[in-house]
Amino acid sequence: MDDAIDSQKPSGPVKVKKVYTVWVDRNLCIGAATCVAVSPKVFAMDNEAKAVVLKTADEDTIENIIEAARACPVAAIFIEDEKGNRIFPK
Ligand code: SF4
Repeated sequence: MDDAIDSQKPSGPVKVKKVYTVWVDRNLCIGAATCVAVSPKVFAMDNEAKAVVLKTADEDTIENIIEAARACPVAAIFIEDEKGNRIFPK
C-alpha cells in the first residue's frame, strides 16, 4: 500500500502528528469504511478491505481521528498518546 505511512505495516502502529500512535487491528476490522468516510486523510481501504493509515494523516486533527475511531462499528482503531496512555478506546 503505497499511500500508507509504513508500507511494511500499513495498518500501523504508526506515529501521527509526531505525538500519537495510531493503529487498526486488522483482525477486528470488517471493512465497513466508516473511518474513511469520517477521516479520508487518515484512513483508506487496502485490497484486503482492511483500513490502513495514510501518509496524509498529519493533516487531520486529533479530534477528528478520535471521531473516526469512535465511529468504527467494531472499535478496531486504537490511539495512544506519547506516553503510551490509551486515548481511544478507553
Ligand atoms: S470503520 Fe473500523 S471496521 Fe470499518 S474500515 Fe474502519 S477500522 Fe475497519
